[in-house]
Amino acid sequence: MKFAFVDGNRTEATNGARGVCPSCGSELIAKCGEVKINHWAHKSIRNCDPWLESETEWHRSWKNNFPDDWQEIALPDEQTGEKHIADVRTIHGLVIEFQHSRIDPQERCSREKFYKRMVWVVNGTRLKRDYPRFLKGKQNWRRTSKQGYFFVDFPDECFPTTWLGSSAPVIFDFRGTESIDDQYDLRNNLYCLFPRQNKREAILAIISRESFISSAINGELFRKHHEPQNQNAKAPTQNNIIVRRREPTHYYDPRKGRFVKIWRF
Ligand SMILES: [Zn+2]
Repeated sequence: MKFAFVDGNRTEATNGARGVCPSCGSELIAKCGEVKINHWAHKSIRNCDPWLESETEWHRSWKNNFPDDWQEIALPDEQTGEKHIADVRTIHGLVIEFQHSRIDPQERCSREKFYKRMVWVVNGTRLKRDYPRFLKGKQNWRRTSKQGYFFVDFPDECFPTTWLGSSAPVIFDFRGTESIDDQYDLRNNLYCLFPRQNKREAILAIISRESFISSAINGELFRKHHEPQNQNAKAPTQNNIIVRRREPTHYYDPRKGRFVKIWRF
């Protein structure tokens, strides 16, 4: 985890520090070394949230695109008392989960049920075969009437099967933490696979990183990227992820390299 409570404040890990878990309230120890990024770990082996994944540089750099107080949000289910820590929860109520490790489809399903309005961002660099498979499968995409949107007849030829039955949009990041100088390299974009609403083709959108991040921040994500209509099939709906429009709360400051709060007077 990136944050723990230290004297009541959400604090990042520093050498020798101790804190309290924002989810289960047990003691956390700061782990700061050269191999792994600085993080907090539970003192006992018991992990409070079974969904917590050990954090990689990839997770951290994705989370850092969003304001600190949107990151690692403990969300309880008021009826069952079940509690999980969302990687990012925007002010508009959208949960963004960054998934590096392999996930069992059953667990994927439970998380989608728990968070309801969510989107996955999947690290497409974990397995060597993922990107070549994507490139090969991409040749069979069909254009839709909307620019940047495609029909994918055989999604399993493009993407890991774990993600194909998802009820939330799944965004594949094939660049990972690498930086790629060639601006035309396909890995600089993100590929959003929408939930399949029928047994026919899936719909996919190509989204730039900047557009994904800024539209998640200003609440327009999936409002702007709504799907094109397929005249032959029932139009898929995105009701579960449409978010209310609100005034933007943050803007991107290129000098600071991050989003900062807009102060209104
Ligand atoms: Zn905990």
